Amino acid sequence: MEKTLKWAKRAELFKKLNFEGHEKEFHRLAEEGQTPKALFIGCSDSRVLPELFTHSKPGELFVVRNAGNFVPTWSPDIRWDGVAASILFAVEVLKVAEVIVCGHSTCGAIEGLYSEKGEEMHPYLKNWIRLGEKAKRLAEGAHPELIGKTELHDLTARLSVVLQLEHLLEYPAIQERVKEKKLYLHGWFYHIDTGELDYFDPEEEKFIPLKTLLKPCSDDS
Ligand SMILES: [Zn+2]
Repeated sequence: MEKTLKWAKRAELFKKLNFEGHEKEFHRLAEEGQTPKALFIGCSDSRVLPELFTHSKPGELFVVRNAGNFVPTWSPDIRWDGVAASILFAVEVLKVAEVIVCGHSTCGAIEGLYSEKGEEMHPYLKNWIRLGEKAKRLAEGAHPELIGKTELHDLTARLSVVLQLEHLLEYPAIQERVKEKKLYLHGWFYHIDTGELDYFDPEEEKFIPLKTLLKPCSDDS
């Protein structure tokens, strides 16, 4: 009972501090349903807070989280995959206009790819994180001097974000909507220690701090 009481107190705080001031908006969402503009695919890590760091209101983000923010590769025979099903629901039913795949620093799933304790990992989990295996190979190939160092993990997490965007493009519905310019794909990286976000610039082929977009461009002055 003590454990449940703790959550009862927190639910009461939510009602007072967050719900009561926005009651009209919650009623409207309940009546009209959701029309989120973006699908956010992030890691389940408890330190990653999508609604907070995107400053989103209820109804704005459709969030899918899993260990490692991975996107299953497309197969028409996919069965019982909650991540693929939620992605398809967001794109085909809710018709979101943007998809954000967001990796983060010190990701446990990415670290798992390098763990020597792999044999202790449940086979299901071991199989799941294989979705990041290619990113590991690319990171090690590009920076062999980092092998054995933790810097390699964050580099792998960034490369993995780009690879998960490629996985998304394997989904026929996504491919079509991107081609028609009805859907835009973002690749992000969240720094847990600083609260900063980087975005992947496909032209520069690198991650750039999002805040640089806020600086006035010298060419415009
Ligand atoms: Zn993670």
